Amino acid sequence: MSTKRTFTMIKPDAFGAGNAGAILKMIEEAGFKLVAMKITRLAGDAAGKFYAVHHERPFYKDLCAYMSSGPIIAAILEKDNAVADFRKLIGATNPADAAEGTIRKLYATSIEANAVHGSDSDENAAIEGNFFFSELEKVGV
Ligand code: GDP
Repeated sequence: MSTKRTFTMIKPDAFGAGNAGAILKMIEEAGFKLVAMKITRLAGDAAGKFYAVHHERPFYKDLCAYMSSGPIIAAILEKDNAVADFRKLIGATNPADAAEGTIRKLYATSIEANAVHGSDSDENAAIEGNFFFSELEKVGV
């Protein structure tokens, strides 16, 4: 069976617009349990480190500036088939292409300010969760 955990961020646009509560409600109603969660900010070069895999992409600098522009919520989520099911719940990267009812369709404002992050693999889910949380902070369910 695939991993039971994924990692998410509620990005600065959604947090700043006051949509964090509504998005967390959708996440919980879809069956995900919160294992760890915090409000934080990707200050300094933290966004650059988090998105290091994207450093060759043309939007890397803009993405890092945007992701450090305000507070975010970082969270580890648990559910069977967590990575794939969460990608389905958030929808396509560009909200214009996101399916009806997905978090990005409802709350994203652009391809960059797209409301939420969701890990794209089991391996990255573990790496990204460990970027924000120590083992002690992962309460589990
Ligand atoms: P994701 O896995 O759906 O988050 O998408 P990617 O891994 O391809 O990109 C990471 C993040 O970079 C996205 O969630 C967006 O915030 C941002 N992004 C992706 N494509 C673009 C783009 O073409 N332009 C800009 N400005 N940002 C982008």
